[in-house]
Amino acid sequence: MNSAAFATKRRISILGSTGSIGRNTLDVMEHLGGRDAFAVPAITGMGNIELLARQARQTGAGFAATADPDRYAELKSALAGSGIEVGAGPSALIEAGHRDTDLLLAGIVGIAGLAPTLAAVAGGADIALANKECLVSAGDLFTAAMSRGGGRLLPVDSEHNAIFQVLEENQRHAVERIILTASGGPFRDYTREQMAAVTPEIAAAHPNWSMGIKISIDSASMFNKALEMIEARHLFGLRPDQIEVIVHPQSIIHSMVGYSDGSVLAQLGAPDMRHAIGYAISHPRRANLPVERLDFARLARLDFSAPDETRFPALALARIAMQRGGLQGAILNGAKEAALDVFIAGRTGFLDMADIVAETMDRLHDGREAASIEDVYAADREARAVARSLLREPA
Ligand code: NDP
Ligand code: MG
Repeated sequence: MNSAAFATKRRISILGSTGSIGRNTLDVMEHLGGRDAFAVPAITGMGNIELLARQARQTGAGFAATADPDRYAELKSALAGSGIEVGAGPSALIEAGHRDTDLLLAGIVGIAGLAPTLAAVAGGADIALANKECLVSAGDLFTAAMSRGGGRLLPVDSEHNAIFQVLEENQRHAVERIILTASGGPFRDYTREQMAAVTPEIAAAHPNWSMGIKISIDSASMFNKALEMIEARHLFGLRPDQIEVIVHPQSIIHSMVGYSDGSVLAQLGAPDMRHAIGYAISHPRRANLPVERLDFARLARLDFSAPDETRFPALALARIAMQRGGLQGAILNGAKEAALDVFIAGRTGFLDMADIVAETMDRLHDGREAASIEDVYAADREARAVARSLLREPA
């Protein structure tokens, strides 16, 4: 390849490249031309060092970092002789976010992704955002940082990506509501008694989407949809009462926008995250993506039903968090992440998670606004501490 062609390569860094979103992103990039089309300034992972090293070599990454400070030597030796720079620990993730890039794919799970994503935001990169916790926890601060940085915020979460695709730029004033679709998860038809008894393994098996373990369990409890309601509020500047959720078990309609004239615009596609990822990283062009095409005759039907908030209280908690505002999004998320870790460890029940989050939100509701990102981290720490004490876990 000549140097002129090299200069036109699009630079994409990936936070969380070893995860479900990260692997799908690399798959899409490979399909769209691989190393001939893209340069990869930085990639990050945490525990899966072998995969991280392999990805770094395959993409010719400039920098590879693991979030785990104790795995530096292992990553260094796995990349020996490659010329790829190596880092470990939280500061190395921030360094990855700072590396000059055209677009950063934010694919870390949880609030751990906030600081490295903000580093890229400040540098003016476009952000393809899967890591919804950035918006749930830091909401207005995150969107303000995006405006200062000047990059575009491109939603990767399939629902928000769908809305982004059908939101007509010059018709924003006429948006009446958005309708987030939810598969309903594996427990859509379970009774509360059945839900109380489920194990993490059962909860992690999603019927339609293949995803990381945490988001899969969050889908089963509908905490994922709760986070997505808050995410949508910040992404699209909506009031809480403009955000609706409808259960749609086939996951073919990825979400919809309702306009003031009664029209509803929807985006449809196979349930495959490579669709939303490919759209976000190719925007404003539409690329040729390796996803299944819909066959409507075979689909035959699309079903819808209202979500049951007594079995899925997470949705009501999202509405409360949005109405209260301030740091309640960070508190909801921090308490949820703590309770989810304890559920995954097998030390609390599936339904207890929502009770713990509700109680933590009430205890820490003091009307405070987030003046800085430090306030967000403090609220997150406090929420985790309260949730863990309610679960009788060591601090
Ligand atoms: P995974 O668990 O599959 O991957 C998470 C990635 O983050 C991995 O690279 C993992 O490293 C890394 N990681 C985990 N913990 C930390 C930490 N504490 N600090 C730094 N890095 C860490 O998650 P998903 O890919 O499923 O989800 C990523 C984000 O995208 C989430 O916010 C999720 O809600 C969102 N999302 C995901 C969808 C999906 O289809 N998966 C759909 C829509 C949104 P390692 O594996 O090496 O340990
Ligand atoms: Mg989603």
